[in-house]
Amino acid sequence: MAWDFSTEPEFGEQLDWVGEFCRTEIEPLDLVFPGAAYSRDPKAKALADPLKQQVKDRGLWALFLDRDLGGPGFGQLKLALLNEILGRYDSAPVVFGTAAPDTGNMEILAAYGTEEQKRRWLYPLMNQEIFSAYSMTEPQGGSDPNLFKTHAERDGDEWVINGEKWFTSAGARADILIVMCTNGMFIVPRETPGVEIMDYPVLHNHIRYNNVRVPADHLLGPENGAKVLAQRRLGGGRIHHAMRTVARVKLAFDIMCERALSRESHGKIVAEHQMVQEAIADSYAEINMLRLLVLWTAWTIDNSSTQQARTQIAACKYTCAKVLRDVSYRALHMLGSLGTTNLTPLQAMWASAPTMAIADGVDEVHKVTVARNVLKGYEPHPGLWPTEYLPAKREEARKKYASLIDADPDLAAWADRAARHATLGR
Ligand SMILES: Cc1cc2nc3c(=O)[nH]c(=O)nc-3n(C[C@H](O)[C@H](O)[C@H](O)COP(=O)(O)OP(=O)(O)OC[C@H]3O[C@@H](n4cnc5c(N)ncnc54)[C@H](O)[C@@H]3O)c2cc1C
Repeated sequence: MAWDFSTEPEFGEQLDWVGEFCRTEIEPLDLVFPGAAYSRDPKAKALADPLKQQVKDRGLWALFLDRDLGGPGFGQLKLALLNEILGRYDSAPVVFGTAAPDTGNMEILAAYGTEEQKRRWLYPLMNQEIFSAYSMTEPQGGSDPNLFKTHAERDGDEWVINGEKWFTSAGARADILIVMCTNGMFIVPRETPGVEIMDYPVLHNHIRYNNVRVPADHLLGPENGAKVLAQRRLGGGRIHHAMRTVARVKLAFDIMCERALSRESHGKIVAEHQMVQEAIADSYAEINMLRLLVLWTAWTIDNSSTQQARTQIAACKYTCAKVLRDVSYRALHMLGSLGTTNLTPLQAMWASAPTMAIADGVDEVHKVTVARNVLKGYEPHPGLWPTEYLPAKREEARKKYASLIDADPDLAAWADRAARHATLGR
């Protein structure tokens, strides 16, 4: 029997260690020195680097990369189980070497980079000696890459890039920008003349590329291959977001349940009110539906490829946004006025739900992907009626028993009676 929902004991022990490590080391760091794990400040590094070393010593660093791409080869399923813990803590992904946007960028560098490109950028990214950003979205056409205009022109041994990008996360602090052009994906060191970073938005940058010259070997993957690379990059990124969302909604659920048991209202513990029970029951089911969808998708990637799992990944993308929105809303609501403040993680979590439905492509586009791909497995019914039109099916089925019905009047009467009852109700 191949269906198995258990975790290998050896990896289970690793997960127990991760849970404890996050609680005792990462959470305190986040609360007292937020941002330290990302910082290049020597004092911050002195706090965060020993934690990263502990993760490396446990063999848990950069779990997202498969063995053929130079990682430890744990696979996406184990990464999903790990992310169910890491997603609860702001800096845990970076302490474990699995933080966006670097992970997706490393994945395409590992898959499509030349040896020289890997040496220059992939290995330093894996060691967090440098950081990267992904510059794809354009102001005039976010959800539709066919509207993108950023283009690279070949000039001797160089490419000259012109265009404008919008919402490049962490672009201002990245060492390299991976820039999607209409004719290829390019690696652009941020300091290159012509890279103009606007003052706002602050975290997700608006960048103009004005005659940006990069050497010919900065093209990543084949010329005109940007869309294929983008699919590969975003597929991985989306499923990783969904994995971390499982962690966040579980956190919201824990907060909600604890609160329901801790307060009294109108003569009862809050948890004894049926509408509260409904909120808990719905959240429990939705979280587990999301979790199983994510784990199944991760398992599918491990057993085929990101490309083959693209329908499932798209379903994870919009489902995680919906579950995050619904569960964080219920949890916030359960905490009443306290839920509306920034004194618990719930306000920020609820506020982040609409973002989740937009980042990595808006939900609508992913729903279209799912519907289109799913419909490829269907055909229109040939005649007037749907395949499941019962009178026609019954008539067809009756042919199977024709000889019995012809030979036995009791069976014939039974079949006639059943058909009459099913269609006429008498
Ligand atoms: C937190 C965050 C981080 C991001 N990081 C990056 C990054 O690092 N690099 C990068 O390149 N980009 C990044 N993005 C940008 C992101 O990819 C885009 O926001 C996304 O593709 C949508 O583009 P848009 O914002 O221009 O919205 P639009 O494309 O204008 O969509 C806005 C709305 O229009 C409607 N709509 C659009 N298209 C359709 C459709 N086909 N069918 C039905 N309705 C539709 C929907 O209601 C949609 O929500 C990030 C976004 C966020 C929110």
